Amino acid sequence: MERYIRFNYNNKISYGLLRGDKVKELIGEEYSDFKISGIEYNLSKVKLLAPCTPTKAVCVGLNYKDTILDPGAKWPVEPLLFIKPSTSIINSGDSIIKWPMTEDLAFEAELAIVIGKKAHLISEADAHKYIWGYTVGNDVTAKDLQKTDGLWARSKSFDTFLPLGPWIVSGIDVHNLTITSFVNGQQRQKGNTSDLIFGIKYLVSFISHITTLLPGDVILTGTPGGYGSPLDVNDKIEIEISEIGKLTNYCIRSSETWNLTPRHNL
Ligand code: MG
Repeated sequence: MERYIRFNYNNKISYGLLRGDKVKELIGEEYSDFKISGIEYNLSKVKLLAPCTPTKAVCVGLNYKDTILDPGAKWPVEPLLFIKPSTSIINSGDSIIKWPMTEDLAFEAELAIVIGKKAHLISEADAHKYIWGYTVGNDVTAKDLQKTDGLWARSKSFDTFLPLGPWIVSGIDVHNLTITSFVNGQQRQKGNTSDLIFGIKYLVSFISHITTLLPGDVILTGTPGGYGSPLDVNDKIEIEISEIGKLTNYCIRSSETWNLTPRHNL
């Protein structure tokens, strides 16, 4: 078992191995190239960043057996996929922004698979060779826009809608991990990865037959209970997965100028 971090120290971004409260710096841009540089930092002196830089986050909907389906919803017979853009990623500790376009935010606690090497047309039996490790993901969703649009591209893709971290854990068995989420200290979700409908290896294989997965790409495997939990401005959101760690974020209102011209009565 190893914990990989990505961090900023003196405006230099590096990967590192976390051993206790010490960070061993790694040289190299991706998992397959990493070598220990010999430089060591104290964890308290570095700023943790989202632990990888995906070109895409492929996400799975309705993937937990403990889900009570919304009226009209059906169980997927194949993995139900969507993609969040890389620009939606934020670090542990950063703020999720409630943008003016939405009134109704929800968050979804999810186990995230991190890809270690280029994966194209991979069998389920070989899938483990392409996995770097696992981290915690939060699939933030504008629920009102998801309903309005029918499609999910807008509701899932806003900047800050993919908190990821705090680190990648490799070499663990992920078939029986507890996933819990809290808002302002109150538990909102509790589930276990043993309830996944489409498992880790199948998802890597299935997705690699649609889109080539590149090193650092992530797969968000779905949320226990299926639909997540509401969040709003001033909330503190914590997602914890046993054996991996805790991802903490806050929700704030956007303070930026809104430059969109309204269109009405087209
Ligand atoms: Mg989700």
